[in-house]
Amino acid sequence: MKKSRHGHIELICGPMFAGKTTALVQRLAAARDARKRVIAFKPAADTRSGDATLRTHTGETFPAKSVSDVREIAEAADGYDVVGIDEAHFFGRGFLTVCSTLVDQGVNLFVAGVDFDHRGGMFSAVSRVMRHADHITRLTSTCARCGAEAVYTQRLVASDAPLVVGGAEAYEPRCAECFTPPFV
Ligand SMILES: [Zn+2]
Repeated sequence: MKKSRHGHIELICGPMFAGKTTALVQRLAAARDARKRVIAFKPAADTRSGDATLRTHTGETFPAKSVSDVREIAEAADGYDVVGIDEAHFFGRGFLTVCSTLVDQGVNLFVAGVDFDHRGGMFSAVSRVMRHADHITRLTSTCARCGAEAVYTQRLVASDAPLVVGGAEAYEPRCAECFTPPFV
């Protein structure tokens, strides 16, 4: 029998250093304050913070579960009203399917992730969610070169792997003028 309840998806996207995790934590904390059952996830591949806690640049935190496979989210989210997923660009195939399943179960879903990769193309997990999101919050940063509005993330280390885990030592926000993708 088809369930009549239906949740919504909000995508919070933008380059690195745009405050996506802060926006996500604000939404999850508000839902928790409204006595919703809230759970948050982040990919195990993102090893920067050392544990699974969502951490904003201003020091706020929200507990999260570290998952290595997107299917773990569907299982662990059972019984929750609100689900938050950070660093969604780390997830690959099957991410949208999991999101759709949760929404069909009535879950309100908040997904945060980088939209443009180091070549200026789109991360597939994020672009797929983008096409199905009910609401898109597009955040920007400040170009590290010229101070203009930044939508791209410039990789500063010499690797052409699709995903390289790193912070300010490996990436900086750039505007479209200053962004220089690697040559193919
Ligand atoms: Zn610039």
